[in-house]
Amino acid sequence: MRDLSAGPRVLLKRLRELMAEPLEPQERLDRIVRQIANNMVAEVCSVYVLRSDGVLELYATEGLNKDAVHLAQLKMGQGLVGTIAASAQSLNLSDAQAHPAFRYLPETGEEIYHSFLGVPILRAGRSLGVLVVQNKAQRNYREDELEALETTAMVIAEMIATGELKKITRPGLELDLTRPVSIDGDSYSEGIGLGYVVLHEPRIVVTNLLNEDSETEIRRLATALGSLRISIDDMLSRREISMEGEHRDVLETYRMFAHDQGWVRRMEEAIHNGLTAEAAVEKVQSDTKARMMRLTDPYLRERMHDFDDLANRLLRQLTGFSPQSAAEGFPNDAIVFARAMGAAELLDYPRENLRGLVLEDGAVTSHVVIVARAMGIAVVGQATGAVALAENGDPVIIDGDDGKVHVRPVADLQKAYEEKVKLRAKRQEQFRALRDVEPVTKDGHRIKLQMNAGLLVDLPQLADSGADGIGLFRTELQFMISSTMPKGEEQESFYRNVLKQAGGRPVTFRTLDIGGDKVVPYFRAQEEENPALGWRAIRLSLDRPGLLRTQLRALLKAASGAELKMMLPMVTEVSEIRAVRELMQKEIQHISKFGHQLPKKLQFGAMLEVPALLWQLDELMDEVDFVSVGSNDLFQFAMAVDRGNARVSDRFDVLGRPFLRILRDIVRAGERNKTPVTLCGEMASKPLSAMALLGIGFRSISMSPTAIGPVKAMLLGLDIGQLSEVLMAALDDDTPGVSVRDLLLRHAEEHNVPV
Ligand code: PEP
Ligand code: MG
Repeated sequence: MRDLSAGPRVLLKRLRELMAEPLEPQERLDRIVRQIANNMVAEVCSVYVLRSDGVLELYATEGLNKDAVHLAQLKMGQGLVGTIAASAQSLNLSDAQAHPAFRYLPETGEEIYHSFLGVPILRAGRSLGVLVVQNKAQRNYREDELEALETTAMVIAEMIATGELKKITRPGLELDLTRPVSIDGDSYSEGIGLGYVVLHEPRIVVTNLLNEDSETEIRRLATALGSLRISIDDMLSRREISMEGEHRDVLETYRMFAHDQGWVRRMEEAIHNGLTAEAAVEKVQSDTKARMMRLTDPYLRERMHDFDDLANRLLRQLTGFSPQSAAEGFPNDAIVFARAMGAAELLDYPRENLRGLVLEDGAVTSHVVIVARAMGIAVVGQATGAVALAENGDPVIIDGDDGKVHVRPVADLQKAYEEKVKLRAKRQEQFRALRDVEPVTKDGHRIKLQMNAGLLVDLPQLADSGADGIGLFRTELQFMISSTMPKGEEQESFYRNVLKQAGGRPVTFRTLDIGGDKVVPYFRAQEEENPALGWRAIRLSLDRPGLLRTQLRALLKAASGAELKMMLPMVTEVSEIRAVRELMQKEIQHISKFGHQLPKKLQFGAMLEVPALLWQLDELMDEVDFVSVGSNDLFQFAMAVDRGNARVSDRFDVLGRPFLRILRDIVRAGERNKTPVTLCGEMASKPLSAMALLGIGFRSISMSPTAIGPVKAMLLGLDIGQLSEVLMAALDDDTPGVSVRDLLLRHAEEHNVPV
């Protein structure tokens, strides 16, 4: 009787020898299929490889007609082989011809073989081809034979992935692994980037597939699993995490998977069949991923990501992979691919090398996107499947204008984009030429164009863009990127530096806006069901007066002898402003008592982000020196759409009547109260929406630095009087018909306003 466990081991040993021999690829593949057939006592063993045109081509066979090699082909989804590739699932059939998907290929002479066992050749859950064994007699292949064939398929996956089969691919054809793919996503930040893929969660490529001794590998796996479990328990027990909702859920899921006996058993089985511990982890990961990729249930898909993350952690344990070793090969033109990412993680990348960011999730006003936009890089979000389709180092084009990502683009497309980049550069040149041009509209209105910032690295853009100042300085970014709470002195020297670099142009500092999607690692609040409506921004500041007073003191000291402009985020009631003023007064007294020089002028403002303020406009304006509309949050609360949830965040238009009417009421209140009103949300960054803002009366807006040029170009060609007339009428007239957006577009076109 055959020794069942020795079978696959012997086979893998032979395959390892074959892989090491200096053979031509066809010869190697031929010998591999012969080995498999012999070892599995099969009359046929064949390899089909998926080409970039979606066709599975016979690359080698033992037992079928040899003349059919490179000729016999099946489309993805066609026949048994096509079904296996499309579903990424094995088929074990005692009577292949009776299967509804069976398709007879006369050139192969396979009609005499009844039993059929086919497995997908997988890599990172993607089908690269199919490996088949066949027998004349009707029989069912055993579970261990299926497992052995799947393990063997990994060796072939490695051959395909290393590009070895390229040499025996017919001219003009390409393998699927190198297939160009275009992914349609959403445009989150404009710009074109040409570069190379950097996977944010690097996929570890296992090259050491076959083991010398199973017992050693089983022990390695057990040790790695042990450390993994300890590290998860450790993370869970940390105080700051134990409070937090979502993060905790993920860790709990990790823990569940890490103790899952089924998972461990499947990995051990793969080791017994001859794989190294890391190859076993990868095999089970790939199988599971392939199966789960087709799930449509979002909850289960999310769990698949969790499982994938966990398997990657285990791989890192086993291979000693560290992010530093990944950083060494960081390309000059990097386009980072991630499922999701926090703002701080993006800031960890060397900024000068970043050309773009591709996110599978995300939403246009989420924090990481705001930071990416501030960095001036192209961002495409909702790029489904991007991470699985790309490999580290693949050439890629990100088109942030159209929301497209082209992985491994064909030469023509590459050329077309190179042209587009040149054109863009020319346009940028034109915008730069506008830097010193006064932003005055055709009918003589001087518009104040300011930029948004939050980090020191943003400051050079002030001079480069020609902005009038910084209309929104998000102080929380400094907190978000540090691992511990910045001390008072650190804050003070940071603000002083900002003012110095601004070189006399005004800077509006916004006090800490943490909470909601702005997570600060060392400051954990309690789990909240609706964090956007929860304990955040000024609410948190008022409940932690020590934190706020430290910041106010730092601001006052940093601006000593100069002008200090500051504003409060997320104000809901005017009384909150008064409360902060009182704290401010105390700080002023404190500072004077110790002989420090005070700012020579203090301008105190509030952000208008919560709809409740719309019914306190006059009281609000009586209380402050200026108002700045945070349209990102005001829109989210006014329309009841979560700005971080892509499913709804774009459902309603910021240029729709309801929102524009709200904004117009604010402008009118400003005029009535003689209070300066500005707007610093993302809608100021798009020429078309900026045009609408001017049309309803805004004369000051603050935007991402890269938007200054395009917005200035727009307003230089705009006659506000003309636009106002049509826009105001359209806002009063609610007869359905033309949308305000269309009307604005038409106006721009008719009057040659570049939007
Ligand atoms: C806003 O809400 O519009 C805003 C400018 O603040 P943030 O985007 O930082 O919440
Ligand atoms: Mg806000």
